[in-house]
Amino acid sequence: MKICILPGDGIGPEIMAEAVRVLQALDLGCEMTEALLGGCAVDATGDPYPEATQRLAQEADAVLLGAVGGPQWDDLPRAQRPERGLLGIRKQLGLFANLRPAILYPELANASTLKPEIVAGLDILIVRELTGDIYFGQPRGVETRDVDGHQERFGYNTMHYSESEIRRIVRVAFEAARRRHRKLCSVDKMNVLETTQLWRDVASETASEYPDVELSHMLVDNAAMQLVRNPKQFDVIVTGNMFGDILSDEASMLTGSIGMLPSASLDANNKGLYEPCHGSAPDIAGQGVANPLATILSVAMMLRYTFGREGEALRIESAVKKVLAQGCRTADIYEAGTRRVGTRAMGDAVLAAL
Ligand code: NAD
Repeated sequence: MKICILPGDGIGPEIMAEAVRVLQALDLGCEMTEALLGGCAVDATGDPYPEATQRLAQEADAVLLGAVGGPQWDDLPRAQRPERGLLGIRKQLGLFANLRPAILYPELANASTLKPEIVAGLDILIVRELTGDIYFGQPRGVETRDVDGHQERFGYNTMHYSESEIRRIVRVAFEAARRRHRKLCSVDKMNVLETTQLWRDVASETASEYPDVELSHMLVDNAAMQLVRNPKQFDVIVTGNMFGDILSDEASMLTGSIGMLPSASLDANNKGLYEPCHGSAPDIAGQGVANPLATILSVAMMLRYTFGREGEALRIESAVKKVLAQGCRTADIYEAGTRRVGTRAMGDAVLAAL
């Protein structure tokens, strides 16, 4: 179990320290190597994704990332920005499947902007295709054309998916649904877009390989509405890159606690990059108050999806639930009547619960 640890910038090193302690406590004999990604890598080498990091990330079975970025690097040229490091590693590792759970622990139901009865106990997983769709399609650009004797600017992008690209992401989603409540909803816009008619056809064909999972289809505009109206109707949602970008953000915001949400991005062999959904939170960096639970829960996802260690993944998730039930809260999820703790104390509480 070779794991490449990339703490990154801002609160990254603080939250990563707690995640590593949890991993060590499980005593799985992991081999961990730490490297630089993002702003810290720019400062040390001039490159947000230096070669030494590339080598370690490629050699590892899984990569655990904190977060990258911060205002001190915002004025750099695009190629040297910390976010370039993130895009670079995702691309190089061929991570085409992005898994984003949106879980609202009953104890945190008040953190959501929706009524507690709509969201308490919410547990959905959005599977987003990450390397295709209109974000990468060619041709693309903005150009000036002659229209009826006057010049006008045109912007255009190309949405496309091949059958094999659709099939491999849909399979990841079916496999994930098998580990959960065996319900998969495929989201498209087949009434308007031919690409997504193909998406729907391939999803339906693939369903025959998974007779134990119930497949349904939904148009993306309806899905956006249903996520707010009755989000608990969903178990796993699978969709393309652009719709997934929007729906996964919408779903994570239903929970109201960004410091709690992990994510996974997988390649064709279940090698994965695991990271919290939040950024580097420069406003609270160095204060020891950041919530480490999203990163700790990313460790659980890593054990589940890359290493097939469901038992240990569940142990971590149960420990987090227990800590919340005990009333332990970092500042971002604090409410009156609970106990406010810092990053390290939250890590201690999870270790004790483990
Ligand atoms: P952010 O997620 O870093 O912060 C948004 C708000 O949430 C802030 O008030 C922050 O204090 C709070 N927050 C975030 N994580 C928290 C945690 N674990 N515990 C407690 N509070 C937490 O988003 P932003 O402010 O828009 O971006 C800050 C920097 O992070 C930018 O440079 C951005 O580019 C980068 N970023 C990186 C990633 C990534 O590495 N994957 C993702 C998003 C943003």
